[in-house]
Amino acid sequence: MKDINPKLIRILECQSCNSNLKLVESNFVCVKCGAVLSTQNGMVDFINGSSDKRQMELRHQKEEIFYFNTTIKARLYEIGRKIITCDYVVKDYFNEFLGRIKKDAIVVELGSGNKRCTEDIINVDIFPFPNVDVLSDIKKTPFGDNTVDYVIIDAVLEHVPEPQTVCKEIYRILKPGGMVFCVVPLIHQYHGYPKHYFNITEDGLLHLFNEFSTCEVKLYRGPTSAIISLIAEYLALAFSGNNNNLYMAIRGAVLIPIFWVKYLDKLWCHSKKSTRICNALCAIVTK
Ligand SMILES: [Zn+2]
Repeated sequence: MKDINPKLIRILECQSCNSNLKLVESNFVCVKCGAVLSTQNGMVDFINGSSDKRQMELRHQKEEIFYFNTTIKARLYEIGRKIITCDYVVKDYFNEFLGRIKKDAIVVELGSGNKRCTEDIINVDIFPFPNVDVLSDIKKTPFGDNTVDYVIIDAVLEHVPEPQTVCKEIYRILKPGGMVFCVVPLIHQYHGYPKHYFNITEDGLLHLFNEFSTCEVKLYRGPTSAIISLIAEYLALAFSGNNNNLYMAIRGAVLIPIFWVKYLDKLWCHSKKSTRICNALCAIVTK
């Protein structure tokens, strides 16, 4: 069982009266109205008792989100994903971003799933994965205004029907000068976990973060990654005859002989035009 992240006390606020919360044993209690928020396994639940429903939904979506899980299958998938899939990050802007983070900073990952990027990061998700610290809708988080130093939102905005609302929420919780690292797909196949609403261009990212003082958009996964993932999807479509398992198997098998092609993206990553047809973009944003 994990402990409650002690940094949470610095940023959580009461959902009823926006006052500070204090930690009493293992519950958060509002200093003004006395509202009590219970915690379970180090996770604070802001989805108001609907976690049974969430557990049900989670079970139904297990097929689609298994690789966020902690099973051996998930770990093998993760290793495979790094080597044989088209998932190749040309320049590691993410680790560069993590490298800037000071020890005492408050770092929040929105839509974290089950991964944990740094030891004391505050993971927020709508599903109760074991590594989640705050169970909450990311459109309305339980954090106070101007309380967070860094926000990570990696391949999440495309799964939210109102990405603009999420960006406004990030603006609200970030301290002035606080930073965001955001990854979005561009030329990328449909992937619903549970839904996939949008792919986002450079203009789209600049528009979503237009309230912020700066937004730099960079190539994250390149054009070759995009092409080989589409080839794999296309051949799976052509030869799977609507059988889902066969679809997945063909898609994986196609990548085995061609996965190395993705490293060609090293050649194009400096061309500005590469962001027209790349697999994914990232934005480094400052409030
Ligand atoms: Zn209150």
